[in-house]
Amino acid sequence: MSTNRTFTMIKPDAVANGHIGAIINDITAAGFKIVALKYTKLTEETAGKFYEVHSARPFYKDLVSFMSSGPIVAAILEKDNAIEDFRNLIGATNPADAAEGTIRNKYAKSIDANAVHGSDSDENAAIEGDFFFTAAERF
Ligand code: GDP
Repeated sequence: MSTNRTFTMIKPDAVANGHIGAIINDITAAGFKIVALKYTKLTEETAGKFYEVHSARPFYKDLVSFMSSGPIVAAILEKDNAIEDFRNLIGATNPADAAEGTIRNKYAKSIDANAVHGSDSDENAAIEGDFFFTAAERF
C-alpha cells in the first residue's frame, strides 16, 4: 500500500552551489508537504550505511566520499503518489538525460553530483526517513 511519503536529500553539490532555497521552492510548488526537514552532514560511515544497497557497485566508494563531502538537507515529503511524482520532479539519475524543467536538469552537473536523492519505493522511503528522523521530528 502506498504511504504517500517519500524521502529526499539535497546533495552536497546543490547545497554548495546555493540551490537549497530554489529546490525547496520547486518541491513545495509541485504540491509536496514537508513532514520533516534537517540540515546536516553525513560522515563516511553514515553515508556508507545509507548507500549500503549499492556497496557492490563500482561507483560506491566515490558515492560515499561525495555524499560525505559537505552538508546536505534531508526531508520527508508527503503527497498523493509521492514516490512516482517526486521521481518525475527530479528527473533521470544522469542530469544529461533529465527532462527539461526537472530539478536535476536545472541544478545538477553530473551523474555523481546530481543535486538530489529521491526514494525509489515506499519501503525504501520509510527506511531512509527513519535513518534521519525520529517520530518527534515529523509534523
Ligand atoms: P537514483 O535513484 O536516481 O539516485 O539512482 P541510483 O539509485 O541508481 O544511484 C544512486 C546514486 O548513485 C545516484 O543518485 C548517483 O549519485 C550515484 N550514481 C549512480 N550511477 C552512478 C555512476 O555511474 N557513477 C557515479 N559516480 N555515481 C553514480
